[in-house]
Amino acid sequence: MNWREWAKKTDRRHILALSGGKDSSAMAVYLRDKVPNLEYVFCDTGVELEETYDYLKKLESFLDMKIHTISAAEGFDFYLKMFSGVLPDANTRWCTRMLKLKPYEKFIGDDPVVSYVGIRADEPHRQGYISGKPGVTTVFPFAEDGLIKSDIYRILEDCGLGLPSYYQWRSRSGCYFCFFQQKREWVGLLENHKDLFELAQSYEKIDPDTGERFTWMQDESLEELCRPERVAAIKKEYEKRMRREAQKFASNQRLCDMWDGDAEGQELACLVCHI
Ligand code: SF4
Repeated sequence: MNWREWAKKTDRRHILALSGGKDSSAMAVYLRDKVPNLEYVFCDTGVELEETYDYLKKLESFLDMKIHTISAAEGFDFYLKMFSGVLPDANTRWCTRMLKLKPYEKFIGDDPVVSYVGIRADEPHRQGYISGKPGVTTVFPFAEDGLIKSDIYRILEDCGLGLPSYYQWRSRSGCYFCFFQQKREWVGLLENHKDLFELAQSYEKIDPDTGERFTWMQDESLEELCRPERVAAIKKEYEKRMRREAQKFASNQRLCDMWDGDAEGQELACLVCHI
Protein backbone atom coordinates (compact mmCIF):
# COMPACT_ATOMS: atom_id res chain seq x y z
CA MET A 1 0.00 0.00 0.00
CA ASN A 2 1.42 3.44 -0.81
CA TRP A 3 1.46 6.39 1.56
CA ARG A 4 -1.53 8.08 -0.09
CA GLU A 5 -3.65 5.02 0.57
CA TRP A 6 -2.49 4.98 4.20
CA ALA A 7 -3.32 8.70 4.43
CA LYS A 8 -6.98 7.94 3.68
CA LYS A 9 -7.35 5.58 6.61
CA THR A 10 -9.72 7.00 9.15
CA ASP A 11 -9.35 4.22 11.70
CA ARG A 12 -5.98 5.47 12.97
CA ARG A 13 -4.03 8.55 13.98
CA HIS A 14 -1.74 10.28 11.51
CA ILE A 15 1.37 11.80 13.04
CA LEU A 16 4.27 13.84 11.74
CA ALA A 17 7.12 14.39 14.18
CA LEU A 18 8.89 17.68 13.58
CA SER A 19 12.48 18.38 14.50
CA GLY A 20 12.57 22.03 13.50
CA GLY A 21 14.87 21.02 10.64
CA LYS A 22 14.34 21.40 6.91
CA ASP A 23 13.13 17.92 5.91
CA SER A 24 10.40 17.42 8.49
CA SER A 25 9.27 21.04 8.06
CA ALA A 26 9.04 20.61 4.30
CA MET A 27 7.12 17.41 4.94
CA ALA A 28 4.63 19.35 7.07
CA VAL A 29 4.09 21.80 4.21
CA TYR A 30 3.85 18.97 1.67
CA LEU A 31 1.27 17.03 3.65
CA ARG A 32 -0.82 19.96 4.81
CA ASP A 33 -3.56 19.51 2.23
CA LYS A 34 -2.99 15.83 1.60
CA VAL A 35 -3.51 14.24 5.01
CA PRO A 36 -6.68 15.14 6.88
CA ASN A 37 -6.36 15.21 10.67
CA LEU A 38 -2.58 15.12 10.63
CA GLU A 39 -1.13 15.66 14.10
CA TYR A 40 2.07 17.69 14.21
CA VAL A 41 4.32 17.01 17.16
CA PHE A 42 7.64 18.37 18.34
CA CYS A 43 9.74 16.51 20.93
CA ASP A 44 11.32 19.31 22.92
CA THR A 45 14.49 18.24 24.70
CA GLY A 46 14.51 21.53 26.60
CA VAL A 47 17.99 22.23 25.28
CA GLU A 48 17.14 23.32 21.75
CA LEU A 49 18.31 26.48 20.06
CA GLU A 50 16.09 29.55 20.25
CA GLU A 51 16.10 29.58 16.43
CA THR A 52 14.37 26.21 16.40
CA TYR A 53 11.47 27.49 18.50
CA ASP A 54 11.22 30.59 16.29
CA TYR A 55 11.11 28.49 13.16
CA LEU A 56 8.46 26.18 14.59
CA LYS A 57 6.33 29.19 15.43
CA LYS A 58 6.61 30.36 11.82
CA LEU A 59 5.73 26.90 10.61
CA GLU A 60 2.76 26.68 12.94
CA SER A 61 1.44 29.95 11.67
CA PHE A 62 1.93 28.87 8.04
CA LEU A 63 0.13 25.57 8.65
CA ASP A 64 -2.53 27.28 10.69
CA MET A 65 -2.42 24.18 12.84
CA LYS A 66 -1.26 23.56 16.37
CA ILE A 67 2.11 21.86 16.75
CA HIS A 68 1.93 19.78 19.93
CA THR A 69 5.01 20.04 22.05
CA ILE A 70 5.89 17.01 24.11
CA SER A 71 8.80 16.49 26.43
CA ALA A 72 10.27 13.99 28.85
CA ALA A 73 9.18 14.02 32.47
CA GLU A 74 12.64 15.24 33.48
CA GLY A 75 15.28 17.36 31.82
CA PHE A 76 18.77 16.59 30.51
CA ASP A 77 20.48 17.27 33.84
CA PHE A 78 18.30 14.77 35.65
CA TYR A 79 19.16 12.00 33.19
CA LEU A 80 22.81 12.97 33.20
CA LYS A 81 22.83 12.27 36.94
CA MET A 82 20.93 9.05 36.37
CA PHE A 83 23.65 7.96 33.92
CA SER A 84 26.33 8.72 36.53
CA GLY A 85 27.39 11.97 34.92
CA VAL A 86 28.55 10.25 31.73
CA LEU A 87 27.83 12.48 28.75
CA PRO A 88 25.88 10.80 25.96
CA ASP A 89 27.77 9.82 22.83
CA ALA A 90 27.07 8.10 19.54
CA ASN A 91 27.23 4.67 21.18
CA THR A 92 25.12 5.23 24.26
CA ARG A 93 22.64 7.76 22.84
CA TRP A 94 20.78 7.84 26.15
CA CYS A 95 19.73 11.41 25.36
CA THR A 96 17.75 10.29 22.31
CA ARG A 97 16.17 7.46 24.23
CA MET A 98 15.18 9.49 27.28
CA LEU A 99 14.44 12.89 25.75
CA LYS A 100 12.93 11.93 22.41
CA LEU A 101 11.91 8.30 21.93
CA LYS A 102 10.21 7.69 25.27
CA PRO A 103 8.05 10.85 25.19
CA TYR A 104 7.15 10.14 21.56
CA GLU A 105 6.13 6.57 22.27
CA LYS A 106 4.10 7.78 25.24
CA PHE A 107 2.38 10.30 22.96
CA ILE A 108 1.49 7.52 20.52
CA GLY A 109 0.30 5.22 23.29
CA ASP A 110 -1.19 2.00 21.98
CA ASP A 111 -3.13 3.69 19.22
CA PRO A 112 -2.86 2.56 15.62
CA VAL A 113 -0.78 5.24 13.93
CA VAL A 114 0.54 6.19 10.51
CA SER A 115 3.87 7.90 11.11
CA TYR A 116 5.22 10.14 8.34
CA VAL A 117 8.99 10.37 7.95
CA GLY A 118 10.83 12.94 5.83
CA ILE A 119 13.44 10.73 4.20
CA ARG A 120 14.04 11.79 0.62
CA ALA A 121 14.45 9.78 -2.56
CA ASP A 122 18.14 10.79 -2.76
CA GLU A 123 19.06 9.26 0.57
CA PRO A 124 18.28 5.56 0.25
CA HIS A 125 20.83 4.71 2.95
CA ARG A 126 18.75 6.46 5.61
CA GLN A 127 16.13 4.67 7.54
CA GLY A 128 14.89 7.09 10.16
CA TYR A 129 12.96 6.25 13.26
CA ILE A 130 10.74 3.22 12.93
CA SER A 131 8.73 2.42 16.00
CA GLY A 132 8.77 -1.11 17.32
CA LYS A 133 5.18 -0.68 18.44
CA PRO A 134 2.88 -3.11 16.64
CA GLY A 135 0.22 -0.57 15.62
CA VAL A 136 2.59 1.91 13.98
CA THR A 137 3.00 2.05 10.20
CA THR A 138 5.85 4.23 8.94
CA VAL A 139 5.54 5.86 5.53
CA PHE A 140 8.02 7.90 3.47
CA PRO A 141 6.12 10.29 1.17
CA PHE A 142 9.21 12.13 -0.18
CA ALA A 143 11.02 8.92 -0.99
CA GLU A 144 7.92 7.39 -2.58
CA ASP A 145 7.20 10.50 -4.64
CA GLY A 146 10.80 10.84 -5.80
CA LEU A 147 11.51 14.16 -4.03
CA ILE A 148 15.16 15.05 -3.56
CA LYS A 149 17.02 17.74 -1.61
CA SER A 150 16.47 20.50 -4.17
CA ASP A 151 12.72 19.82 -3.91
CA ILE A 152 12.90 20.35 -0.16
CA TYR A 153 14.51 23.77 -0.63
CA ARG A 154 11.93 24.63 -3.27
CA ILE A 155 9.01 23.66 -1.03
CA LEU A 156 10.34 25.80 1.81
CA GLU A 157 11.20 28.73 -0.42
CA ASP A 158 7.90 28.63 -2.31
CA CYS A 159 5.85 28.79 0.87
CA GLY A 160 7.95 31.65 2.23
CA LEU A 161 9.41 29.79 5.19
CA GLY A 162 12.90 29.36 3.82
CA LEU A 163 15.45 27.53 5.94
CA PRO A 164 15.80 27.83 9.71
CA SER A 165 18.37 30.56 10.42
CA TYR A 166 20.76 28.22 12.25
CA TYR A 167 21.55 26.57 8.91
CA GLN A 168 23.96 29.45 8.34
CA TRP A 169 26.34 27.87 10.82
CA ARG A 170 24.95 24.45 11.67
CA SER A 171 23.83 21.56 9.51
CA ARG A 172 21.01 20.10 11.59
CA SER A 173 18.50 20.77 14.32
CA GLY A 174 18.72 19.30 17.81
CA CYS A 175 20.26 20.01 21.19
CA TYR A 176 22.72 22.90 21.27
CA PHE A 177 25.41 20.58 22.65
CA CYS A 178 24.72 17.69 20.31
CA PHE A 179 27.85 15.52 20.11
CA PHE A 180 27.12 14.86 16.45
CA GLN A 181 28.17 18.42 15.70
CA GLN A 182 31.28 18.86 13.67
CA LYS A 183 34.03 21.17 14.83
CA ARG A 184 32.97 23.96 12.51
CA GLU A 185 29.52 23.79 14.05
CA TRP A 186 30.94 24.05 17.56
CA VAL A 187 32.74 27.17 16.36
CA GLY A 188 29.37 28.35 15.01
CA LEU A 189 27.85 27.81 18.44
CA LEU A 190 30.70 29.74 20.02
CA GLU A 191 30.21 32.64 17.65
CA ASN A 192 26.42 32.69 17.65
CA HIS A 193 25.58 31.56 21.19
CA LYS A 194 28.60 32.07 23.41
CA ASP A 195 26.46 31.49 26.50
CA LEU A 196 25.35 28.08 25.23
CA PHE A 197 28.88 27.19 24.23
CA GLU A 198 30.02 27.98 27.77
CA LEU A 199 27.15 25.99 29.18
CA ALA A 200 28.15 23.02 27.03
CA GLN A 201 31.72 23.51 28.18
CA SER A 202 30.64 23.43 31.82
CA TYR A 203 29.46 19.82 31.37
CA GLU A 204 32.94 18.66 30.40
CA LYS A 205 35.19 17.25 33.10
CA ILE A 206 38.70 15.95 33.17
CA ASP A 207 39.47 13.74 36.16
CA PRO A 208 42.51 15.32 37.84
CA ASP A 209 43.67 11.98 39.27
CA THR A 210 43.21 9.62 36.36
CA GLY A 211 43.25 12.14 33.51
CA GLU A 212 40.05 10.52 32.22
CA ARG A 213 38.19 12.93 29.95
CA PHE A 214 34.44 13.42 29.85
CA THR A 215 34.08 15.65 26.82
CA TRP A 216 31.56 16.03 24.00
CA MET A 217 34.19 15.16 21.42
CA GLN A 218 36.61 12.29 21.81
CA ASP A 219 39.72 14.11 20.64
CA GLU A 220 39.29 17.65 21.88
CA SER A 221 37.64 19.49 24.73
CA LEU A 222 35.64 22.65 24.17
CA GLU A 223 38.21 24.54 26.21
CA GLU A 224 40.84 23.46 23.67
CA LEU A 225 38.59 24.13 20.70
CA CYS A 226 37.72 27.69 21.66
CA ARG A 227 41.32 28.94 21.70
CA PRO A 228 41.68 31.63 19.02
CA GLU A 229 44.41 29.77 17.10
CA ARG A 230 42.32 26.60 17.09
CA VAL A 231 39.19 28.45 15.96
CA ALA A 232 41.20 30.02 13.13
CA ALA A 233 42.57 26.61 12.09
CA ILE A 234 39.10 25.04 12.06
CA LYS A 235 37.73 27.87 9.96
CA LYS A 236 40.65 27.66 7.57
CA GLU A 237 40.16 23.93 7.15
CA TYR A 238 36.45 24.50 6.58
CA GLU A 239 37.12 27.12 3.90
CA LYS A 240 39.55 24.77 2.19
CA ARG A 241 36.90 22.14 2.19
CA MET A 242 34.29 24.57 0.86
CA ARG A 243 36.59 25.32 -2.08
CA ARG A 244 37.14 21.61 -2.69
CA GLU A 245 33.41 20.94 -2.58
CA ALA A 246 32.64 23.94 -4.79
CA GLN A 247 34.78 22.38 -7.48
CA LYS A 248 32.72 19.22 -7.25
CA PHE A 249 29.34 20.96 -7.37
CA ALA A 250 28.40 23.72 -9.75
CA SER A 251 25.62 25.08 -7.55
CA ASN A 252 26.01 27.27 -4.51
CA GLN A 253 26.95 25.22 -1.50
CA ARG A 254 25.26 25.56 1.83
CA LEU A 255 26.61 24.27 5.04
CA CYS A 256 23.86 21.70 5.29
CA ASP A 257 24.61 20.51 1.73
CA MET A 258 28.26 20.05 2.43
CA TRP A 259 27.78 18.06 5.55
CA ASP A 260 24.78 16.06 4.49
CA GLY A 261 25.99 12.61 3.69
CA ASP A 262 29.47 13.51 4.81
CA ALA A 263 29.22 11.07 7.65
CA GLU A 264 26.56 8.61 6.81
CA GLY A 265 26.39 7.09 10.26
CA GLN A 266 25.96 10.47 11.85
CA GLU A 267 23.23 11.44 9.49
CA LEU A 268 21.35 8.25 10.17
CA ALA A 269 21.83 8.62 13.88
CA CYS A 270 20.51 12.12 13.81
CA LEU A 271 17.44 11.10 11.90
CA VAL A 272 16.69 8.50 14.49
CA CYS A 273 16.84 11.32 16.97
CA HIS A 274 14.64 13.55 14.87
CA ILE A 275 11.54 11.48 15.16
S1 SF4 B 1 20.12 16.12 19.16
FE1 SF4 B 1 22.04 15.08 19.73
S2 SF4 B 1 22.30 15.46 21.95
FE2 SF4 B 1 20.16 15.91 21.41
S3 SF4 B 1 19.03 14.04 21.84
FE3 SF4 B 1 19.64 13.99 19.68
S4 SF4 B 1 21.61 12.89 19.61
FE4 SF4 B 1 21.23 13.53 21.74
